[in-house]
Amino acid sequence: MELTEKTGHSEMMIRADRLQPGDVAAAFTPEFLDLDRCREWILNQIHRNGACCPGCGSSIKDEQRLARFWAGKRLSCPLCGKKFTAITGTFLSGSSLDFRDIFFLMQALGYGARATDTAKRIGCDPKTVTNWRNKLARAL
Ligand SMILES: [Zn+2]
Repeated sequence: MELTEKTGHSEMMIRADRLQPGDVAAAFTPEFLDLDRCREWILNQIHRNGACCPGCGSSIKDEQRLARFWAGKRLSCPLCGKKFTAITGTFLSGSSLDFRDIFFLMQALGYGARATDTAKRIGCDPKTVTNWRNKLARAL
């Protein structure tokens, strides 16, 4: 490895053409996203009125239960005894996708990406993407 006289930089310096926007777009998958950040953002969107029990509708007030709720963990209601998580009774309930997958899927749908490409990146069946697209369209 030799240094150039003018710049002193190595001839082996990585060129900018090794990192192109198209390559980044092609490599982008849910694994690049932060699971906690995606969960936090999604749960805040679907629980804009705060955390409450899906069984009796009572607000969750104590810190310990609130922490479990926003962390996506299972908790039980002290009033009705229902066991639930923050997605119980929501349109996300029963999904096999995690919060990163859902965030990725929704941004892909927002950009009009093809279902087959989105499914490949998430690692799910294209029908899953189509079902989510239909589910979200019905919700509007
Ligand atoms: Zn309850």
